[in-house]
Amino acid sequence: MRKNIVAGNWKMNNDLPQTEALITDLLKQTKTSNAEVMIAPTAVNLYQAFNATRASNIEVIAQNMHFADNGAYTGEISAAMLKSVGVNTVILGHSERRAYFNETDELLAKKVDAALKNDLRVIFCFGEELADRKAGNEEKVVESQIKNALFHLEASAFKNIVLAYEPVWAIGTGETASPEQAQDMHKYIRKTLNNKYGSQVANDMTILYGGSVKPNNAKEIFSKPDVDGGLIGGAALNAEDFYAIINAF
Ligand code: PEP
Repeated sequence: MRKNIVAGNWKMNNDLPQTEALITDLLKQTKTSNAEVMIAPTAVNLYQAFNATRASNIEVIAQNMHFADNGAYTGEISAAMLKSVGVNTVILGHSERRAYFNETDELLAKKVDAALKNDLRVIFCFGEELADRKAGNEEKVVESQIKNALFHLEASAFKNIVLAYEPVWAIGTGETASPEQAQDMHKYIRKTLNNKYGSQVANDMTILYGGSVKPNNAKEIFSKPDVDGGLIGGAALNAEDFYAIINAF
């Protein structure tokens, strides 16, 4: 089933006291919303965040995980470890992980498999660089990112996947894709899914837009028919701004 989701990616921000303070602020905001609300604090604070939001409609999700079940992977975190601290959803493929930690489509396919095997829902991120868009290659790039990491899956796996189109040139830059650019790409993504898996998978897929979504542009972006919500970076670090975006639905 297609859903509206607004997820806040806190990245490497907020130590424990700051995490608790931001959650306290979030819990003071409106409780009812037309979207599922998620926050992704840093891994070390996931358990505290999970406990602090237990009684609310906020889901605490992870920013990343390793593909192995366990073993000699110093510094890494497995899907089962995330599950054990109350996490049921993980972001995979964020452009910062691709760019700074060399995460390839091949590696991401393994992470997706590990997450699904452990009953984690995946928010799978992808998006073109500015040079790709300038060259008119944005659809080709996005299509290959989706195909390489996800098209080995059975159709039934897609009920546990959310897609997040995040043009790299719009992340943290203050530059947003226009609502039309977002809509055009989301429509193309649905067409790509339809070609491979048929109309049910395509129509049921929740596709988020990410890239400098702010309170002043969220409503117009979310009003587009193929945009089902947002993955929010900077504006998710402020409770009022984050809820203004959520309430744009
Ligand atoms: C992100 O990092 O996923 C993101 C969309 O960041 P921002 O909203 O700050 O552009």
